[in-house]
Amino acid sequence: MNESLWEARHGWDETQHWDGRTMTAADIVQIGSAGAHADEELARRYAVASVLEGPIPSDLGALAPEATVVVTSALRGITRGMIDSLPKLRAICSWGVGYDTLDVAAAREKGIAVSYTPDILDDCVADLAWALMLAVGRRIAEADRYVKAGAWQDVRGFPEAMRISGKRLGILGMGRIGEAIARRGAGFDMQIGYHNRRAKDGAPGQFFDTLEGLAAWADVLVVACPGGAATYHLVNAPVLDALGPKGILINIARGSVVDETALAPALQEGRLGGAGLDVFEDEPNVPAALMGFDRVVLTPHIGSCTVDTRRAMGDLVVANVEKALAGEPLVTPIP
Ligand code: NAP
Repeated sequence: MNESLWEARHGWDETQHWDGRTMTAADIVQIGSAGAHADEELARRYAVASVLEGPIPSDLGALAPEATVVVTSALRGITRGMIDSLPKLRAICSWGVGYDTLDVAAAREKGIAVSYTPDILDDCVADLAWALMLAVGRRIAEADRYVKAGAWQDVRGFPEAMRISGKRLGILGMGRIGEAIARRGAGFDMQIGYHNRRAKDGAPGQFFDTLEGLAAWADVLVVACPGGAATYHLVNAPVLDALGPKGILINIARGSVVDETALAPALQEGRLGGAGLDVFEDEPNVPAALMGFDRVVLTPHIGSCTVDTRRAMGDLVVANVEKALAGEPLVTPIP
């Protein structure tokens, strides 16, 4: 362990006492933030060695050889090498519901439990999908720019938009978030269709066994499936063409699911009506080719970013850590 680094971060040395115990090493290595409140709570309760910014060292064992728990996030992830470097690791507690950046298989091989923060963010992510859908369909961001630029001299000058109510809503990934999006669709009198790898018992709407079939049927296609190798570029040029010149693509899932190099030409050539994107292939780098369209609304990966939901996510990470350190089953293990 790098003692000067340790002392600089914690203001203690390895012989000092913390919370009534003799401090010999960190219980936890934290490589991703769980939100300011949870980070503070973890640091208050436990001995934490943290690397919240910048590159994560692959040898976490050099930082905290005794650590039994890693706290990370969907953004920062964890690799097989990092897992292997911690001989006493028992649990990985992640902030966020996506786990394509966590090497869950490597953890499972060693009997290491992994938790995430499902369910509590469904409503906020679904709300954002709807915000983007309405913003693109009704040209809200464009109208806002129009008014603020002083261009509203004649109300007939602003172009007509697309009605959202009553249209066909296609959902790629009818999971927890997909279902929350579909429930909101019922309030807008929309017909619902979805594509998963298999039809889901009790799911709202019509199942399509191909994504292209769903895209050809839908007016709005919302991407709500996980990222990772299995869904890489599922939304490709043929799917965008099937959605068509009046169709709208919304992505609140992962940037890797949509082929961005196919998206910009489809918009440019009028083969796709519009897009609302919260996630990108190489965040925070958004392709310049997507910046210039009025009918494209971009947000900086803020699906769960509300005070209420972020606080609940942080609290759930802390609850999982508490269980892990007590040697009890995690509250929300990845199934
Ligand atoms: P979930 O409950 O596990 O649902 C995922 C759905 O995707 C399932 O219905 C699954 O059905 C389907 N699916 C999985 N692989 C597929 C494939 N290869 N082809 C077609 N469908 C597939 O997950 P969730 O909690 O709703 O979250 C979904 C994703 O949203 C997360 O993984 C995360 O990446 C993203 N997310 C983004 C934000 C944000 O800030 N923008 C916030 C939270 C979550 P089958 O298994 O039957 O295929």
